[in-house]
Amino acid sequence: PFKQRLLVVANRLPVSAVRKGDDSWQLEVTVGGLVSALLGITDFEAKWIGWPGVTVHDEVGRKSLTEALAEKRCVPVFLDENLVHLYYNGYCNNILWPLFHYLGLPQEDSLATICSFQSQFEAYKKANQLFADVVKEHYQEGDIVWCHDYHLMFLPKCLKEHNANIKVGWFLHTPFPSSEIYRTMPSRSELLIAVLAADLVGFHTYDYARHFVSACTRILGFEGTPEGVEDQGRLTRVVAFPIGNDSDRFVKAIQHPQVKNHIKEFEERFGGRKVMLGVDRLDMIKGIPQKLLAFEKFLEENPSWQDKVVLVQIAVPTRTDVPEYQKLTCQVHEIVGRINGRFGTLTTVPIHHLDRSFDQHALCALYAITDVALITSLRDGMNLVSYEFVACQASKKGVLILSEFAGAAQSLGAGAILVNPWNVTEVASAISYALNMPSEEREKRHHHNYVHVTTHTSQEWAETFVSELNDTVVEAQLRT
Ligand code: UDP
Repeated sequence: PFKQRLLVVANRLPVSAVRKGDDSWQLEVTVGGLVSALLGITDFEAKWIGWPGVTVHDEVGRKSLTEALAEKRCVPVFLDENLVHLYYNGYCNNILWPLFHYLGLPQEDSLATICSFQSQFEAYKKANQLFADVVKEHYQEGDIVWCHDYHLMFLPKCLKEHNANIKVGWFLHTPFPSSEIYRTMPSRSELLIAVLAADLVGFHTYDYARHFVSACTRILGFEGTPEGVEDQGRLTRVVAFPIGNDSDRFVKAIQHPQVKNHIKEFEERFGGRKVMLGVDRLDMIKGIPQKLLAFEKFLEENPSWQDKVVLVQIAVPTRTDVPEYQKLTCQVHEIVGRINGRFGTLTTVPIHHLDRSFDQHALCALYAITDVALITSLRDGMNLVSYEFVACQASKKGVLILSEFAGAAQSLGAGAILVNPWNVTEVASAISYALNMPSEEREKRHHHNYVHVTTHTSQEWAETFVSELNDTVVEAQLRT
């Protein structure tokens, strides 16, 4: 049967490649949220286009990697080191990422250490053009092109300039900030115009979609309508599509023998103490110091809990070569050291802090044995950890403390205890409330979230976006 083709374009391919010889490669598929979302949609024939994460200079290498990737339905976009540095490390990670998470633009002195803003912006446009060139090579009439995230804001424009009939969607996986923040961006208009070339633009929450529409009306003077953004009769649909997770995978994982072993091991290890859990990349946006300070305040105010609770904090290292991230690591270590020094005993410490990542089995087991999950992001596009925790809690029915600044607060707000992560006193009382919560209330709250997580899956998210994009294009044709 005929299946519509879907070209998924994202900065990174869902595969990591290690070179084993002149023309041999070892490929490992990474199961992120997007991958499992698209594996679940069977109505489309999907192909991935993206950067393979390695620099390949020679023709033999490029050709062999392209062939190896083709077996995984992946197509590489080759970028040289200098371009990656300016486009990815520079423009994407030092400018767009912090700005979209309300951390502001980099200050003069740190900008100077990398390169000027303008050359990074040029590199960004050039990289987006290279992605577009590869899409063009693989495009066939009728294909849907789905562009992902802040790395590829110019891609819709590059594609539409080449062929106005390509069906183009763009989805942002981070927050889109208030237009008051966004308008500090030097290339604010060009970026918006480039994105608006898409037929359909999607965000995780209504707030992000609304911020985007106000940025377009205030900065570009375009018209904001309930449907999206209009400029001289041409409409770009703007819609909120909250992503979900592959909840089934997590629900089933709990029955896996390896996960069961881990559960037994952890339960013995933490014997009798209540377990609180944090799982974050070690990033400024995750509010790890704020979380630790709140936990410290809780221990200070509740001496009877001091040897009865443990906070397991997994802090996955990220961007370890960037000074700001190194500083954050030191800061976190200092706070953990202080708290463990203050409240530890000869046999126990209140915080288990781990600077590393874990595989899905260990992670599921941790989620399953947790009494209270503590997510205190200062800003977070969605936060899938909160979804994964809920999916693994069918028997324990633990409590989720969730930052109101995570996109997930919009969907899990009814079952979670929502907190302002900047208010250490409030988070400390939420911890106390969660640990003392009567089982009836716990079950009710858990049920609320569990129903949401298991009915709003990542597969459904992907299907909705793609069918909405198809409809949008049909409606646009009817209008003209
Ligand atoms: N994760 C993992 N191993 C770890 C810690 C986290 O595989 O040791 C995964 C986790 O399962 C989740 C993702 O990393 O799917 C984090 O996604 P989230 O949306 O919460 O935050 P992001 O890191 O994308 O900002």
